[in-house]
Amino acid sequence: MSRQEFTISGAKQYHHAGPVRWIASHMLHNKRPLFFWIIYSIGATILLSASRPFIGQAFDEVTRPHPDVSHLARIALIILGLALVGGVCDITARFSAEFLADRMSRDARDELYLNLLGKSQTFHNRQRVGDIMARANDDISLLGQMVNPGLDLILDSTLGLVIPIIFIGFINPQLLIAPLIFTVLYALALRGYTRELDPITTAQRNNFGLLNAGLAETITGIDVVKSTAQEQQEREKYARNARAYRAAYVRNGQIQARYLPPLLLAITLVAAFAHAVFLMSQHVISLGDLVAFMGLMSMLRFPTFISIFSFSLVQLGIAASGRILSIMREETELDENAGGHRGVIKGEIAFEHVTFGYGGEPILRDVSFTASPGQTVAIVGQTGSGKSTLTKLVNRTYDVTAGRVLVDGIDTRDWALESLRSQISTIEQDIFLFSRTIAENIAFSRGQQVSREEIERAAKDAQAHEFIMGFKDGYDTLVGERGVTLSGGQRQRLAIARALVTDPRILILDDSTSAIDSATEDEIQRAIRRLLEGRTTLLITHRLSQIRWADKILVLQQGRVIDQGTHEELLGRCALYRRIFAHYDTVLPDPAAIGE
Ligand code: ATP
Ligand code: MG
Repeated sequence: MSRQEFTISGAKQYHHAGPVRWIASHMLHNKRPLFFWIIYSIGATILLSASRPFIGQAFDEVTRPHPDVSHLARIALIILGLALVGGVCDITARFSAEFLADRMSRDARDELYLNLLGKSQTFHNRQRVGDIMARANDDISLLGQMVNPGLDLILDSTLGLVIPIIFIGFINPQLLIAPLIFTVLYALALRGYTRELDPITTAQRNNFGLLNAGLAETITGIDVVKSTAQEQQEREKYARNARAYRAAYVRNGQIQARYLPPLLLAITLVAAFAHAVFLMSQHVISLGDLVAFMGLMSMLRFPTFISIFSFSLVQLGIAASGRILSIMREETELDENAGGHRGVIKGEIAFEHVTFGYGGEPILRDVSFTASPGQTVAIVGQTGSGKSTLTKLVNRTYDVTAGRVLVDGIDTRDWALESLRSQISTIEQDIFLFSRTIAENIAFSRGQQVSREEIERAAKDAQAHEFIMGFKDGYDTLVGERGVTLSGGQRQRLAIARALVTDPRILILDDSTSAIDSATEDEIQRAIRRLLEGRTTLLITHRLSQIRWADKILVLQQGRVIDQGTHEELLGRCALYRRIFAHYDTVLPDPAAIGE
């Protein structure tokens, strides 16, 4: 099992060695439907094949000079009985197959979802949402189709091949020549067919993922596409992806068109009939035997025709499983460290010679500083200097490349991730709201356990109550996806309310948005002031008034802390700080009076 940031106890474990092993382990987790499916399929085919020799017997009886009517009636009853019981078996088998397929898709979906939740931020940064959606939806439904009708048909056709041949052997072993030669040629043709098909089905699935990812990206970024009038270009890009997908489909069709077994079967049926007539003329078999034999031979038609369809379904299923598995097997960088340290955070943060990069060049170099419990540490620096990056190391969104980050004197890597993260709140630059109600968004970090009073109190403290009550549905107002129906300032206040509900010991405030009118500004300042009380805070801000609250200010330049101290100290000795400070000062009128 690879590392995970999130797991639930009692989750089922599956083999991840390869798609076939994975599919098999999913099947074995559903033993009962699997068992019923196989047993009843075997039963149905045996009963159906068994009626053919009785039909032969009936022929022998009818063609006799004085047919025995009661014997004929008995045979008719037996055939009827076989058909009835066989039919019931058949229905049970089909039902079990469908049940198995549904169970397997459900389990696979659960497994994938849980696995995605457990993946690191680094992993999610790499993935394209549309591609993951394609895997979670389409590839998983292909897994279901692979079982039913795919594998169901393969089981049926294998039985439909083997059992009639066994019955033929019972009529007369000499009759086996034609069907056995056919079986060998059929197997060879099938192998060639699946080998040819394999790369095509994989390409088909990957092209579909690409198509989907492209579409998702365009729709997510539709405002950019529209505002830059790039619809035509996006349309062409989509058409290109669609063509690649179609090309794979056409290739698949071409291979299917060259499918040989039906031709083989036609030749075999002619040869078998000639052989049987010859044996009858030699009095080796009776006319009834010939009828039974040809009846059984005609049962081979089903497996031959259907395998073109069933094998491509199975191959698509395996290709899809491979894609699902490749996501699940991808190494995630962090581990939840469930057995690690747990406890209430007092709020001391220490960076010791921290170096960090997102894989390439280090973004932070040799960063060291400490924040005592309850202190506010502001981080200033030019855009791209690594301010946001620095804050992401505290809750282990990423792990340091070198050095250590300590919370309460304990390396963050030694904390149980869940305990650490649940006590650290981040209000990011880019505030994400779920397409749920305002109340649910505020209560998000604690799920169902938050009362309406508590939510309202937080909203009041965050200066959000008033505008929320201005909506028709108040706290039950649905927020559009990504909060598009709320303004920047409103979203920010919801985020503050969310943080208040969480009541974190450590707060990270990445507040670089500065385009807010002064009335709102005033409210937000008050809300933030309220939020900082009694917590250790890392504060990234462009607002002079907030910087003044800080007990300590770090000045970051290209990933290095070039100075740290109070506002007055830095003004006195740090040229870069003075420059940034002067810059802020001209951008924003000094709102120092607010909240002081
Ligand atoms: P701003 O003031 O504009 O918010 P910042 O100081 O917060 O800037 P960061 O977001 O920390 O800057 O980015 C620092 C550097 O790290 C940038 O050069 C950026 O390109 C890079 N970077 C940020 N996030 C990632 C990521 N997820 N993967 C790779 N590189 C990243
Ligand atoms: Mg930033």
